[in-house]
Amino acid sequence: MLNNKVISIVGAGISGLSCALKLAGSKLSKGYTIRIFENGERTGGRAHSIKVNDFSIDLGAGRFSPVLHPNVSKIVSELAEKTEVFPFTKIVCPHPQHAGLKEILAQLKPKVVSSYNESFFQFLCNHLGDEKSHAIINGLGYDSLYLPQISPEIAYDIIEKHPEIQCFSENAGYEWFNLVDGFSALVKSLYERAAILGVEFYFEHQLVSLQTKSNSTLLEFSGRDQQEIWHNSSYTVLALPPTAMASLNLDFPASWSNFTYGSIPLFKGFIFFDHPWWQDYNLENKVTIVDNPLRKLYFKSDKYIFFYADSACADFWYEETKKGEAEYINTIMNLISMALNIPINELPWPVENKFKYWPSGVEFAIETSPEHPPVLSKNNGTIIATSDAYTPHCGWMEGGILAGRNAADYLLKQLEKTGVEEAEVN
Ligand SMILES: Cc1cc2nc3c(=O)[nH]c(=O)nc-3n(C[C@H](O)[C@H](O)[C@H](O)COP(=O)(O)OP(=O)(O)OC[C@H]3O[C@@H](n4cnc5c(N)ncnc54)[C@H](O)[C@@H]3O)c2cc1C
Repeated sequence: MLNNKVISIVGAGISGLSCALKLAGSKLSKGYTIRIFENGERTGGRAHSIKVNDFSIDLGAGRFSPVLHPNVSKIVSELAEKTEVFPFTKIVCPHPQHAGLKEILAQLKPKVVSSYNESFFQFLCNHLGDEKSHAIINGLGYDSLYLPQISPEIAYDIIEKHPEIQCFSENAGYEWFNLVDGFSALVKSLYERAAILGVEFYFEHQLVSLQTKSNSTLLEFSGRDQQEIWHNSSYTVLALPPTAMASLNLDFPASWSNFTYGSIPLFKGFIFFDHPWWQDYNLENKVTIVDNPLRKLYFKSDKYIFFYADSACADFWYEETKKGEAEYINTIMNLISMALNIPINELPWPVENKFKYWPSGVEFAIETSPEHPPVLSKNNGTIIATSDAYTPHCGWMEGGILAGRNAADYLLKQLEKTGVEEAEVN
């Protein structure tokens, strides 16, 4: 007999996988087929590691703090993923603005509560003047701190919860880790677990539209070679970030939410050399924040160098990559030479490079108060939307795990209610 009781989850990032695992592990979902539909060819979404020279690099999510991300930490332990210390919590080659910055930020923090409707940059300008404010944000290395939608509250959260700049907050002592085999390995283990529990996976299925019917939803996908594929669904979980939601025929966010959403581009560039020349400068396992588009420059053991930029600098690098590899590498090397004050002709040339530009790397709800609901729903709760952007951990895997579980909890309540009603009828 054809099973017409189907739960469809769209998006195989950490949110979708966390949702599937929680649903598949509950007896309330018994009798339902659980399917995950994913646009790409792999699970993980913004968690994406690749192998270079036998070691893994994270082009997307790359580090976690057990204090800030207890659920990530727990899954990492449960799956026995190999971890190593993410050492980039102390800045070398301090920026001129770093002296006294922790004290300045601590003094201003009590004023955050009374700073209505102003951005962090305006907030700084009001208290410290334009020049000093520019210099401080340059010294913090995250250009999103300039954006009009970044409130002082969000900005303090960014400073306190990022390893490179937590030293300017009370969280200076937090430890951070990365996964030896990359975050994709963690996601792959979750995928395998879900598959063992019977979850069905459909890759290269891009959801393009939804049509609601009396007691189900018809999902239209575009498959490989753009062929149209249709699936019926009793319950649908859209484990998609706000930008992906907005590209569907769902009138998102207007008819879903009172919140508005923002996103920030990110860029990670990795360069490999035939020898770890940075060891000669005592830069091994150190990070430096620089006043040029590299912004944050990391020297990973004896393996490689990478840089990580957001907002306008991420877009800058995306444009550079379009000029071709030679020009892109030339720009990087010139900027490294300037940042470290080493003549360009004394620096070796990279032998390999990898990069990834994420046009919407971080997604978030712009309003922080009242708190965003854990899930959004439509059609009597049969269509549910969830994202790390809806949680206080937006922009982090922790938020994805919570988002997926929130959607599963919401759906399980619906299934419980339906089960009771069916039992009463019988
Ligand atoms: C450069 C970068 C660095 C980061 N660093 C860290 C870090 O160090 N630590 C950390 O914890 N987090 C980090 N993050 C954030 C973390 O990656 C995300 O918070 C998390 O991966 C979000 O998971 P998600 O499942 O909610 O969304 P996503 O990972 O975006 O997954 C959504 C999935 O939906 C799919 N999809 C989209 N549209 C459709 C459609 N129409 N039909 C079908 N499928 C669709 C996508 O292909 C994707 O697989 C980083 C992110 C980036 C980009």
